[in-house]
Amino acid sequence: AFQIEDLHVWFGSRAVLHGISLNIPSHQVTGIIGPSGCGKSTFLRALNRMHEFTPGARVQGRIRLFGDDIYESSGDPILLRRRVGMVFQKSNPFPTMSIQENVLIGLRLAGTRNRELLEERLEEALRMAALWSEVKDRLHAPGTELSGGQQQRLCIARALAVRPEVLLMDEPCSALDPIATAQIESLIRDLGQRYSIVLATHNLQEAGRTADRTAFFLEGRLIEFGSTKKLFTNPSQKQTEDYLTGRF
Ligand code: ATP
Ligand code: MG
Repeated sequence: AFQIEDLHVWFGSRAVLHGISLNIPSHQVTGIIGPSGCGKSTFLRALNRMHEFTPGARVQGRIRLFGDDIYESSGDPILLRRRVGMVFQKSNPFPTMSIQENVLIGLRLAGTRNRELLEERLEEALRMAALWSEVKDRLHAPGTELSGGQQQRLCIARALAVRPEVLLMDEPCSALDPIATAQIESLIRDLGQRYSIVLATHNLQEAGRTADRTAFFLEGRLIEFGSTKKLFTNPSQKQTEDYLTGRF
């Protein structure tokens, strides 16, 4: 899905990512693990050109999304948002909007007015996010009225409604209880069959349960990337092993 070559990110004069090269496969879940502050969120945000909204942030390197250079000056960041969906740890529903409006906001901003199409996409996105049966009778209720886990699924539906090619998820379960977490993780595994998902998490078990492949980051560098099973049971780098066994 993504081909990343020599990606650097600075905040002011401080380098946070020091040359990451990584090919992220399609139709799989790719986990990004590593200790707090190693650059997982910074990495995800580079894949979506989010750093353009951070004062002082500077990005260098080449990122291709299915062959297209996303940082090419002609590339429109708004078009990119439609190709790359994002869900955060605390992706809140927009507070003044109903459940329905939350899901459809991306399509409306893209100029879609066709009622039938909007209804179709609403149901499709809510079904994909495993939320349809729970909310179909209260689509006009405020999104913030839902439980934490439901709100997170609503945010997933909001990201999916524009039919992005890739879904970036930054700690999507870390604010949830174990039951809601299990639901979202099972959803991630299902969606990973059809979508390309990049999931940042400092929860090793979560990466183990959801990711087909896992990349281990340390201090802004990619240490190791491979099948999750191999990386967890037989890492090739000493630093990976030390991290997995809790030795730092
Ligand atoms: P966590 O597991 O805690 O979410 P992370 O791996 O996602 O950590 P990042 O949020 O990517 O880590 O942060 C990497 C480094 O970049 C940290 O040292 C952080 O302080 C710094 N950083 C992140 N965002 C900014 C910013 N907007 N301005 C300045 N420094 C930043
Ligand atoms: Mg983070």
